[in-house]
Amino acid sequence: MPHFLAGLTGSFAQKADENPTVAMVQAAYDAAGLDVRYINCEVAPEGLADAVRGAVAMGWLGFNCSLPHKVAVIDLLDELAPSAAVIGAVNTVVHRDGRLIGENTDGRGFVEAMLAQADPTGQRVLLFGAGGAARAIAVETALAGAAHITVVNRDAGRGRELADLVNARTPASAEYRPWDRDIDVPEGTGIVINATSIGFYPDVDARLALNVDTLRPGMVVADVITNPPTTRLIRDARKRDCIAIDGLGMLVNQALVAVQLWTGKSVDGAVMRRVLEDLFGSPA
Ligand code: NDP
Repeated sequence: MPHFLAGLTGSFAQKADENPTVAMVQAAYDAAGLDVRYINCEVAPEGLADAVRGAVAMGWLGFNCSLPHKVAVIDLLDELAPSAAVIGAVNTVVHRDGRLIGENTDGRGFVEAMLAQADPTGQRVLLFGAGGAARAIAVETALAGAAHITVVNRDAGRGRELADLVNARTPASAEYRPWDRDIDVPEGTGIVINATSIGFYPDVDARLALNVDTLRPGMVVADVITNPPTTRLIRDARKRDCIAIDGLGMLVNQALVAVQLWTGKSVDGAVMRRVLEDLFGSPA
């Protein structure tokens, strides 16, 4: 009998075979010859507790949580991994020895994707966004050794809260900077990250308010946007000889970390990336 894993999603207006996470993870299991099924279950907020009890009753290895379940699920778990506790959100739940353990693999996935091309140790980071993705990225990049994070966000309260979190719970320092005009990349910055939803399909031409002439050759420029992977920011970064890291790397790597937690096995990230490129288009 196969082991089951699932994504418990809020509202996913997609058929199962068009859900990128389902397609990507299942392809990797199949390529590795693992008898595991990854399915997508749409769960309303009021049904989350029953869905989690059902997963335990059915002996699932675990499940992913997407918005709006990432915070609400915490009350239903037995334990939180240290970084998930700091981030305050869970995207991956592991069912082990009858206990449910909450993990957050988004930030680790981002850091893994970055480490393939650049080391954040000692770097100063300019981070756009203060939502769920930005929180995970800020915490894990700080825990991976970044020295300082400048958080730029439209909503000042959320931006300050994230800077305070980094200062209080990680070895890095952080500050909030208001986003009231085009931002110049501060002197000494090594890494620029878009962790907002700007550029996501269908608003693919939406512009991040950043003065791209202040991007310098060799700087790391990363974008969380997966659809399309080659965003306006990624194109601008490539034109200026920056090290450009698109959102597919984060998506693949957060899944690789989750699969390792669930099954104890490493699967092939290249298989996952090919599936995503087929769905979202190959980066130019
Ligand atoms: P949230 O809703 O939690 O946060 C959205 C963020 O984007 C906030 O900082 C928000 O600012 C900002 N934002 C949205 N629209 C604008 C705008 N027009 N101008 C300025 N800022 C804006 O979402 P998530 O953090 O969960 O997701 C953000 C993006 O990251 C999504 O596109 C998602 O698809 C992607 N993502 C990618 C992953 C990957 O593996 N590649 C993993 C997880 C997410 P404010 O606080 O001011 O509202």
